Amino acid sequence: MQQQLEQTYQQALADLEHIQSSDALREWELKILGQKGAITLMLRGIGQLAKEERAAFGKRANEVRDLLATAYESRAELVQEHELARSLEEGQIDVTLPGRAHPTGGLHPSTQTFRELYRIWGDMGFQVFRSRDVETDEMNFTLLNIPEHHPARDMWDTFYTTTPGMILRTHTSPGQIRAMRELGAEGTQPIRVILPGMCYRYEQITARSEMQFHQLEGLAIGRNIRMSDLKGTVTEFARRFYGANAKVRFRASYFPFTEPSMEIDVECFLCGGQGCRVCKYAGWLEIAGAGMVHPTVLRNGGYDPTQWSGFAFGMGPERMTMLKHGIQDIRYFWSNDLRFLEQF
Ligand SMILES: [Zn+2]
Repeated sequence: MQQQLEQTYQQALADLEHIQSSDALREWELKILGQKGAITLMLRGIGQLAKEERAAFGKRANEVRDLLATAYESRAELVQEHELARSLEEGQIDVTLPGRAHPTGGLHPSTQTFRELYRIWGDMGFQVFRSRDVETDEMNFTLLNIPEHHPARDMWDTFYTTTPGMILRTHTSPGQIRAMRELGAEGTQPIRVILPGMCYRYEQITARSEMQFHQLEGLAIGRNIRMSDLKGTVTEFARRFYGANAKVRFRASYFPFTEPSMEIDVECFLCGGQGCRVCKYAGWLEIAGAGMVHPTVLRNGGYDPTQWSGFAFGMGPERMTMLKHGIQDIRYFWSNDLRFLEQF
């Protein structure tokens, strides 16, 4: 048994030398010094020895146990130091590495254009008036001088809802009636608003036409508003949006809710009026439809057309964005392809 004790001692010391982790250390402690450990069991088995051997064996066994306990302590200290060093090394922060980029969203190109439009029109004294996407047939057509069965209704292919008389607005113009009625104080106050919003048309989707798109409508009502005010206002806008040298021209056109009506062109800013593929070699780009508010529309908005007059215009932010960035296909706007959206 004496021999067994020495062997266990030597073996335990040797094992301890190779221990690298706290887990292995704990295992060793249980196996050697624990309640059922080798040394503990030998001390308990002391009664099996001859009486005269017991004292010497007990003394040595206690000695071995203390030696092993001391050896264990110092090994434990070493192992802990190593483990700490290792964990520091693994968790080390290399400050020279580039930071992790946070995936940030961006503003949709149409939103960017809208913000610029809000800024410019805001500077020019126009306030934003928001109207609804789902409209009544009456607001969208009838009150805008487009009675039922009027051939002009064919100008807009309409999405109808299952509720009779309710449609998706085909243009932002119904907002003109709502703005006049809500802000005009029964036809007694001048107004100057822009009406941004989404419009919907039951149309074949192509590179040039979508079934949903934005419009930005403008409306000014006052006592002495004339055609020259419309021309001056739109020209000033064009200079602020397209550049100080922007040239504007007006062409006669037709809309049921304005009289007279016109299309507004700006000199092609890509070719300087020389003619290019984008302007189809015309040297001009169409930027808006406009006109003097029709007396019937004024009346429907609560104004007396013999005392009040006004102008209105409508522009397409998507088209403006396409021209600005050379985008060839309007379908990119709502297809939510990040490869497109991330370019802006
Ligand atoms: Zn051009």
